[in-house]
Amino acid sequence: MEAEIITIGDELLLGQTIDTNSAWLAEQLFPMGIRIQRITTIRDTRDAILNEVHAAFKRSALILITGGLGPTRDDITKETLAEYFGTHLERNREVLEEIERFFRQKGRPVLEVNRAQADLPADATLLRNTRGTAQGMWFEKDGKVLISMPGVPYEMKGIMNDGGFERLRERFNSPKFVQRLVLTQGLGESYIADLMSDWEQSLRNEGLALAYLPSPGLVRLRISGSASNGDLRLIEERINHYVKELERRLPHHVYGYDRASIAGVLGNILQERSASLSLAESCSGGYISHLITAVPGASSYYRGGVVCYSNEAKVELLAVDSELLKKHGAVSEEVVRAMAMGARERFGSTYALATSGIAGPNGGSDEKPVGTVWVAMASAKRCATAKLNLGKSRSRNITISSLSALNMLRNEILSKEL
Ligand code: AMP
Ligand code: MG
Repeated sequence: MEAEIITIGDELLLGQTIDTNSAWLAEQLFPMGIRIQRITTIRDTRDAILNEVHAAFKRSALILITGGLGPTRDDITKETLAEYFGTHLERNREVLEEIERFFRQKGRPVLEVNRAQADLPADATLLRNTRGTAQGMWFEKDGKVLISMPGVPYEMKGIMNDGGFERLRERFNSPKFVQRLVLTQGLGESYIADLMSDWEQSLRNEGLALAYLPSPGLVRLRISGSASNGDLRLIEERINHYVKELERRLPHHVYGYDRASIAGVLGNILQERSASLSLAESCSGGYISHLITAVPGASSYYRGGVVCYSNEAKVELLAVDSELLKKHGAVSEEVVRAMAMGARERFGSTYALATSGIAGPNGGSDEKPVGTVWVAMASAKRCATAKLNLGKSRSRNITISSLSALNMLRNEILSKEL
């Protein structure tokens, strides 16, 4: 089914707000068989809105709009849509009462501009917003549907989750799509494509689609298929067959599926084994700690970490031998190893990870160019190290070092058990 999204707001076109609404909507609609063909961002002007809605109705059976429903004068979507659909605004008693209650609860006065949020197009079905005052609106025209929602992501998501998606499911009975994301760490997309070319060819021959979605340190592989005959289970089985084979051929790199995070996957592994983790971070500056603590329940396995940026901190907080620092420099296998062992000792954890590198963009030498990073993993039995030769971007280097360290420990624990 052909659908499109229109996001409205000058701030989006000025680059001051990133359009996250479209990405979220498109992702949610995909498994329902609703494929977004086009995403358009336009200004908050009457002409732009009228022209775009007119053009979109010619192309698509479903149009989703976000933005321009605020109480201030710059937001004109509601009035413009009422004009487009040839309807008028009526004050909705029930919505008005809720708006008044909403402000009373917050102890703020209700202004006339707030009351005017209850003036809604007479021909629209309301999609209620329980998180804010701008209501969602569902319009129909020539068998086609237009949904208008506020731009605030949290309110827009609430409106869709609280009944918007349900209504769409009832209204459009589309062939379903099935997809699986396979998450990999540590290999480039072209390398994977080359290594797995026979696998990819066979998958395509069976009518499935494959897409590579790279981000720093990670590549997500999206395998998808559509079940137009309604047999979703068959497609799922076929996809699972390819997922399993990928995992079998890249065991050190495939760390999870769909929305999993590498820190979350590692967290489960640690928790299941009642093992604990500590960190000694130099070039990653606490980013590994951030990734770990972003996972609910991290306190059951994460002991803590030291951001030991200076040589003195490495010596004083982690008992790194100052002779090692003098002899090999902070960015060296010897020092990163001593950092990991020092953290493991100090925190009394089962495992420890350490990073030391030249994050850049300046500060490299011929011997140790920008992007040289050492990571180490200490366990009771051994201390493993790996050298990464990364690029010149500081933020990429921090991200990739952190993800590599997490995956290093995941592999250490799992391969020991094979
Ligand atoms: P509005 O409904 O136009 O009053 O939007 C309210 C706020 O939502 C704006 O100030 C933005 O910060 C945010 N917003 C609007 N459109 C989007 C979008 N497409 N993606 C993410 N945030 C948005
Ligand atoms: Mg706006």
